[in-house]
Formats: sequence, structure tokens, C-alpha cells
Amino acid sequence: MTEFKGQSTISVHSGEHLDRETGSVNTPIYQSSTFFFPTGDKRTWDGEVPDGSYIYTRYGNPTVSAAERKIAALESGKHCLLFASGMAATSTTLLTYLKAGDRLVSQEDIYGGSYNLMRYHLTSLGIDVSFAPTADTGALIEAIVPGTKLVWLESPTNPLLKLVDYPEVIKAAHERGAMVVVDNTFATPINQRPLEAGADLVMESGTKYFGGHSDLLAGAAVVNDLDIAPVMRKRIVLGGSMDPMAAFLLERGMKTLALRMKCHNQNGSAIAEYLEDHPLVDRVYYPGLESHPQHALARKLMAGFGGMVSFEVKGGRKAAERAMSSMKLVKMATSLGGVESLVSMPLNSSHAAVPPEERARLGIRDNLVRLSVGIEDVEDLKEDLDQALRSA
Ligand SMILES: *Cc1c(COP(=O)(O)O)cnc(C)c1O
Repeated sequence: MTEFKGQSTISVHSGEHLDRETGSVNTPIYQSSTFFFPTGDKRTWDGEVPDGSYIYTRYGNPTVSAAERKIAALESGKHCLLFASGMAATSTTLLTYLKAGDRLVSQEDIYGGSYNLMRYHLTSLGIDVSFAPTADTGALIEAIVPGTKLVWLESPTNPLLKLVDYPEVIKAAHERGAMVVVDNTFATPINQRPLEAGADLVMESGTKYFGGHSDLLAGAAVVNDLDIAPVMRKRIVLGGSMDPMAAFLLERGMKTLALRMKCHNQNGSAIAEYLEDHPLVDRVYYPGLESHPQHALARKLMAGFGGMVSFEVKGGRKAAERAMSSMKLVKMATSLGGVESLVSMPLNSSHAAVPPEERARLGIRDNLVRLSVGIEDVEDLKEDLDQALRSA
């Protein structure tokens, strides 16, 4: 396949499946669970299904492969495996590399589903799990004691946009013999590429910016030098494979990934600055703001700061709730990364199960609102936020 240089060209063209029979410009949807398998066919059923040779869609499918090649190219990786959701990618990856007695190190502020999986489900399998403070590089590295098998990082995090100095942590983990996975969902490969800093595997929830239209679920595991065959064998037996229709929507959505991220970066910065100067806002969390405690690190790690902005509404929880329900253009819903702006409250969504003392310790206040800034005109977004804050 042709190697492209620019991220926009890669977004549009990498991975595309050329259908010589019809000349179709777009990758066809191979909506088939099974493929011809004649008697005497020498292909094996042990998971070593080579690209371009298909047996059964749980093992692999040409539409899914096209999206996988595009994601691998965007992340500077050699291989990608797609899954039915981000959590399917996460659970399959963790169950591939960890067994009873192994030690897993992660951070306090990771995605709620990943935290739940590690804290309650992996520990019940006899895996030793420990969570270090996200923004404290020293403490994270200290937690990677010799014998640690895997380190799971996420940067920036939800909802406070904390950063991990992942190049430093990766270096230290490798010195101690541990492999490192980075959840790159918030940044996307347009803003940061952890494989280039030596991460062994990058996980992405394709449900968010990759798909970009809030119309599908997807998860990806991308590697460079790491052998991906064990993850593929695990995907086959756990069954979290991706459906061809979702793969088509994903590959189609990703054609505008670089274009959309440019807009999310611009709108995110503009809205963060606007809210920081707003008299009815106490505090704004955005890596691109100079007031962000890790702004210097953000400049080092990220090419753009994304579309996720969190802020505290003056007047406490009630005022924050009133402001949210007064928004007209911005919709109240969980999830993020779509073309439309969405708003939610960590208190009653992502962090509803976290006890109040623990939320306070993590710095998540009751008046905190999380905004996924879409690609609408920024003036319209400002107007909606302003009228909503005023009516609160
Ligand atoms: C949404 C999300 C996930 C989980 O992805 P799903 O597609 O919902 O399973 C994992 N990590 C982060 C950072 C997310 O935002």
C-alpha cells in the first residue's frame, strides 16, 4: 500500500480497499459473516488469518481490515485490531497479557469503565492492581516495582484533563521490564502519537473522535513492534469483533479525522478562553490554557489540545445543573468527540459511583461540567453558553 505523509491524506486514503471488479471509490461493506472455504483449503483456524484472506467475520472481514489499516497508519503503527467497542479492546488486551499473580499499574483518573474492569474484575482473577496519582510522574514510576507486567496510562484524562508524562513513564517501565499501553482516546493520533514515544500498544475508543458522528461503537488496539497475534487469538475466543457495517461507518468517519480535529482544537481553545474570562465561571480545565498546571507538559506532548473542556459554574451544583438544562444548542448527553457539542456532569455520569469524599480527593467538585466542544460555529457556541450561564 502507498505510504502517505500528511495526516489529512492518511485520513482520507490510507487503508482504502480497492475493488477492481466495480471500480468503487469507497471501501465496500462486506456484510457477510462467512466466506467461501472450499474442501482442501489449507488455511488454519488458529487465528493466523492473513490480511486479504477471510474465513469468518469474527476472525476478520475486508471492511474491518480497511479501517484497521487506516488507524495503524494514523497512529504510526504497523498493525491495528478493531473491536466492537473501546471496552472490548481494553478487556481483550488486558486479558491477553495478564494472568493470576501478575502486577498491573495504572492511574487514579482513568476512564470509569477501565477502572471498574481493573479494580473489580481483574482483581477477582488474582491480578494485583495498583493506581498511582495521574499527574505525579515520580509516584507513577515508583509504583512500577520490578516484576510489574503491564502499565496502563491515559492522557489527557476525564474530566480534569490531567496529563501523564508518558515518554518518561514508558522509559522507566521498559527499564523495569514492564510493557506500556496508552489510552489515546482524548488526544487522537492527530494530537499525539504514543507509539512514537515507545508505547507498546495504543488503545483508542473509536466511538469518540474516530467515528466522530456519535453513530457507532468501536475500539482499537494498535502496535508497532509488539506481536499482535496473541491479541488476535484472544479477540477470536472472547468474541468482541467488529461488525462490517460499523467498520464502514468508522472508516468513512475517519476520512475527516484530521479536518475535524483541527476544528475541535480551535473551538476547544476558543471556548476555554471564553469561559475562563466569563464572570459566572469559577475555573476552567483545558491543557491549552496557561493556567493549566501542566501547560508546559501539554505543549511538549501535544500538537493540539483537543475539544474537551471542563469548568466549574459559580453558585455550586444547583447553578451548574440549571446552566446545563438551559443550553439550547449544546445537548445534555454522555460521550464525546462527535461533530455536535455535548455537555455532562461527572457527578451524575462518569463519577456517579465514586463516593463524595473520594471525588473531593480527586478534585472533582459538585459544580463541575464537562463539555465536548463540537465543530459548530464558535460564536453560536459562545452565545448558547452565555445565555445558559446567565439564566442559571
Ligand atoms: C469512551 C472511552 C472508553 C471506552 O470506550 P467505549 O467505546 O465506550 O467502550 C475508554 N477510554 C476513554 C478515554 C473513553 O473516553
